[in-house]
Amino acid sequence: MALVVADTTTAAGAADEARPAAVTRPPCRFCGAPLEHVFADLGMSPVANDNVPIEHANAMEPFFPLCALVCSQCFLVQLAPFETQKPLFREDYAYFSSYSSSWLEHCRRYTEQMIERLGLEASSQVIELASNDGYLLQYFKQAGIPVLGIEPTDNTAQVALEKGIPTRVEFWGAQTARAVAEEAQADLLLGNNVLAHVPDINDFVAGMKIALKAGGTITIEFPHLLKLIELNQWDTIYHEHYSYLSFGTVGRVFEAHGLRLFDVQELPTHGGSLRIFGCHEDDPRERSDAARELLERERAAGLEDVQTYRDYGARVIEDKREILTFLIDLKRAGNSIAGYGAAAKGNTLLNYCGAGRDFLDFTCDANPHKQHHVLPGTHIPILGPEAIRERRPDVVLILPWNIKDEIMQQLSYIREWGGRFAARSPELRLLP
Ligand SMILES: [Zn+2]
Repeated sequence: MALVVADTTTAAGAADEARPAAVTRPPCRFCGAPLEHVFADLGMSPVANDNVPIEHANAMEPFFPLCALVCSQCFLVQLAPFETQKPLFREDYAYFSSYSSSWLEHCRRYTEQMIERLGLEASSQVIELASNDGYLLQYFKQAGIPVLGIEPTDNTAQVALEKGIPTRVEFWGAQTARAVAEEAQADLLLGNNVLAHVPDINDFVAGMKIALKAGGTITIEFPHLLKLIELNQWDTIYHEHYSYLSFGTVGRVFEAHGLRLFDVQELPTHGGSLRIFGCHEDDPRERSDAARELLERERAAGLEDVQTYRDYGARVIEDKREILTFLIDLKRAGNSIAGYGAAAKGNTLLNYCGAGRDFLDFTCDANPHKQHHVLPGTHIPILGPEAIRERRPDVVLILPWNIKDEIMQQLSYIREWGGRFAARSPELRLLP
């Protein structure tokens, strides 16, 4: 596999010639150029959030290729296509945004900022794409500003409707946008952590152009590809996450659809995210210094050079070896290890490294919907957080490293029995 990462024109590339071009060189999801370069090949992996109920743990389990490619024309990093027999993401999988208190606080502050910056009032319209259970729109509604949510997952949309938040149960794209625009266009059109999750990025952004009022503002938040590379966050690659976005590439996608980016904020969420500000291409607002500076920084980091992306794949392979060495050393020294968290990034890490119950006795998660399940692929049991106090593991491996400070505070009692924390930051190590 290393050869594929190192150079597609050598031996591995020759082997690929026997396969159809659509498999070896699929078209870029944005610009259609053939994809020839591997960014990170994480092998075969189950769908990350597809936790398995204990009673089904003996059944056959689907695995799919998990390989991120980069386009040498537009530099969009994207998952290679994978074939499925049935819908990949379970309808009953409910990620209720309202569960996380730190995320709700982030949203409340955003709402205040936007109301002030854009002068939103009772005659304005806010539209959110992937509005989930109304976790964010509730704050605009409380401020007396008309809102509309678009949410494809029925059970989360129903929770929003029960809170009195108008919500359409639909996927976003040009077709939905035309129906929405007949009733109201948006003064503020927003989407948090959704752009990276859509398979058809062109249709999604085309819809934003249609639904945006003249003079209106788009804000979108997504994890920043520059941070993924700099901080080695390859465990944020998983099947629901089709695109890995830089400011430069998203700017190109927007421009292709008559929109442009005029400002950006860098946020600490999800290990380093961007909040981009977009408008119609003929909007008079000038590009901010922050936007110019970030474009320059991305260029200086090599994001406009395909070699930067190809080099990354080799780092991922080396990191796997280091993670396994770390875990093997802990086990050989007689330590028991428990995981904390049953989220997507932990599954990518454990499956890619092949670390199952031979390393982690169990993991835990505060979300009761995840308990009484096992992690996909590795079949590590998911227990409630109280299991840590009962079983007193020597090491707690925090899988969602982006909230490790919060978790270390919650579980500080493990020090009573000499327990220690481990997390990636960015390399996996014991934390002081
Ligand atoms: Zn492309």
